[in-house]
Amino acid sequence: MYLKRTEGIVIKSYDFGEGHRVVVIFTHRLGKVRAVAKGSRKTKSKFGASLEPLTVNEFMLYRKPGSELAIITGADTLLSNLNLREDMKTYYYCALMLECMDILNTDDDPHPVIYNLFKGALLDIKQGGSLPSITWLFIFRLLKQAGYRLDFFECGKCSTKNFKNPHFAPEEGSVYCSGCLSKRDLSWPVSGEALLSIKKLDSDYKLDKKSQSEIGNIIQKFIKYEFGKNLKSMKFLDRILNNNNSVEMNLKKRKNVFSGINNQVK
Ligand SMILES: [Zn+2]
Repeated sequence: MYLKRTEGIVIKSYDFGEGHRVVVIFTHRLGKVRAVAKGSRKTKSKFGASLEPLTVNEFMLYRKPGSELAIITGADTLLSNLNLREDMKTYYYCALMLECMDILNTDDDPHPVIYNLFKGALLDIKQGGSLPSITWLFIFRLLKQAGYRLDFFECGKCSTKNFKNPHFAPEEGSVYCSGCLSKRDLSWPVSGEALLSIKKLDSDYKLDKKSQSEIGNIIQKFIKYEFGKNLKSMKFLDRILNNNNSVEMNLKKRKNVFSGINNQVK
């Protein structure tokens, strides 16, 4: 049994029993934790808006021995991050980060470095950095911290750094030059421009649309290869990349998209 106080960021939540919710939290001290928020679906819940995705809280968590689920006994909001949820474009990118946080972290595996990286990425967005660059940079860092070393700067077989017609091979987690590529390799072409963009990524880097689309494709295919899952929030992000008018959607459509994302990232 434990009763612990820890800072944590809400990843997602889903209904549980009569009026309760299970909240998936990435905590500073305990890693990814599933915890029941009793009565949180009731109108006058003591939790209020503290269990919305992206909210940073000081949680009090109680857990019985052998139980998969902790119980949230308290949640004091430190950062509501409401502005990250209000703007649809911002939320699309944040939803992708949340989905990657969920897929790439196993339950009850503490990783304060990942916690600080995620909190820092959200802060960079709030401070007006480049939304796509912060998101992809965070996902590359998350992959590295989770033990997936991706190398885009030299051929995974012959180590040359100077190659034409590169292909990304998820099995190796790196690119292959055309000389090393065989038909048996599962791989996809990637442009030199996209690789250069990955090298230049920082929180202010202006990523062009084509490179962003290629980077999205690489990450999507890598996650699919490693975890057998499609990144569902990519579908919403593609709409932003391919149709700038999507941000002009009427309120009804917006609500549908938001509930779509929330359901998708369960
Ligand atoms: Zn090679």
